[in-house]
Amino acid sequence: MARFAFSVLATDGKARTGRIAMNRGEIRTPAFMPVGTAATVKAMKPEAVRATGADIILGNTYHLMLRPGAERVARLGGLHRFMNWDRPILTDSGGYQVMSLSELRKLTEEGVSFRSHIDGSKHMLTPERSMEIQRLLGSDIVMAFDECPRADRPLAEIATSMELSMRWAKRSRDAFDGGGEHAERAALFGIQQGALDERLRARSAESLKEIGFDGYAIGGLAVGEGQEAMFATLDFAPDQLPENAPRYLMGVGKPDDLVGAVERGVDMFDCVLPTRSGRNGQAFTWNGPLNMRNARHAEDTGPLDTRCSCSVCSTYSRAYLHHLIKSGEMLGAMLLTEHNLSFYQQLMSGMRNAIAKGHFALFASDFRRDYFSRS
Ligand SMILES: [Zn+2]
Repeated sequence: MARFAFSVLATDGKARTGRIAMNRGEIRTPAFMPVGTAATVKAMKPEAVRATGADIILGNTYHLMLRPGAERVARLGGLHRFMNWDRPILTDSGGYQVMSLSELRKLTEEGVSFRSHIDGSKHMLTPERSMEIQRLLGSDIVMAFDECPRADRPLAEIATSMELSMRWAKRSRDAFDGGGEHAERAALFGIQQGALDERLRARSAESLKEIGFDGYAIGGLAVGEGQEAMFATLDFAPDQLPENAPRYLMGVGKPDDLVGAVERGVDMFDCVLPTRSGRNGQAFTWNGPLNMRNARHAEDTGPLDTRCSCSVCSTYSRAYLHHLIKSGEMLGAMLLTEHNLSFYQQLMSGMRNAIAKGHFALFASDFRRDYFSRS
């Protein structure tokens, strides 16, 4: 089997569909990766996650290093065996979450020292330690360790941070390559930074290409800049990255973000939105998001979405789901999560088919017409 082989099967405008072949299975692109933060996609059994059509899930280095600990996961046979998911897993580097979740951070050239948000214990993350943790977890796609500044920081600060991330990308590459057997079967992605600035993004892309990675992520977006600014950046950022490698937009997004990003040449996504929203009573449908707490669903015997093929929509009524959510029942969170993840995978599958048939523009305009029509 291939360690990592990306092939583009069809393009339509800038949109492309393809596949990534890896030892643990194939990833169809454009791909959406459900987020399995703490070795679980919340409220879902792994076999149910697979049944929604997910080829790959994401695990969070920051959470797993703090609890249960990377060394413990390694002693237990790695993340795949620990959580019963035998397909590819992408792990993030911990860089983003250490900046957003931990306490008393101190950033130096070496890395980031911080205190755990769980028990206040002291830790240090460096490119080398991040690579070691991701190797101990047994990750299939390892992310380079980077720093993600807020997009609204002054340009000079964004530039300094980007240059630091590029030095860390090189250290990540070297540490990953020194990882022995793991380096022979896993892949390493670099992360482009530079916020909304075209020239900084270009410089970042050049640095990453010089180092060389299996795939390239677009980092530092979806951090509060808004969709318009994100799309404006995606009008140039994917084009700056190699054509023959997958491009991964980190932490995105809403269904309409995904369509707009695929339109601009992005191949991979991850986001907590379908799972987190599901637990909060929000359902995504082809006709836009629904708040299942709303009393208008109380006696509605219809499904969440008549076009959805998931088992929730073929079995349960809006009225029942409304009742479960209103009552704070666990099953409500479970069923909405399952529907939302299924919906996201149906959206990805719809985009892949449309690109393959050469009518992505029509798919995108139909999607927007229905999604933004308030029924
Ligand atoms: Zn459904």
